[in-house]
Amino acid sequence: MEFSVPIPLDQDGFVRRECPTCRAQFKWHHGPINDDAVSAAPAVSYYCPLCGHPADVDAWLTTEQVEFVRASAMPDLLRSLESEFKGLSITDSPSAPPALTESNDMQMIVPPCHDFEPIKVPDELAGPFHCLICGALFAV
Ligand SMILES: [Zn+2]
Ligand SMILES: [Zn+2]
Repeated sequence: MEFSVPIPLDQDGFVRRECPTCRAQFKWHHGPINDDAVSAAPAVSYYCPLCGHPADVDAWLTTEQVEFVRASAMPDLLRSLESEFKGLSITDSPSAPPALTESNDMQMIVPPCHDFEPIKVPDELAGPFHCLICGALFAV
């Protein structure tokens, strides 16, 4: 079974992420921002802007997003169990959770080495930060 769950973007098209290593949250841009980004080799891993540790591209869901995906999947999962096992009827099935929202917080920064991959980091941090693509440190 596959679920497609809408993860919200902020007004600039950024999606909130959480580092699996340091648990800090930041945002990256959803989808390529220009032709350079389109022609760049697809990434297999990204570097955390805050701690610099790399992780697989799909390893960056925030705690809230994981919870949301889990809660969104539950009604469908129960329905399919019900249809699969005759005699099983689930009366107290949970409903889908309210959609996530994404506020327009954080400051946008652009790594000089990969300027087609802007990121957003918490306002209170002054850097230096790591490039998402190559992990190089840069000051803002
Ligand atoms: Zn990190
Ligand atoms: Zn870079």
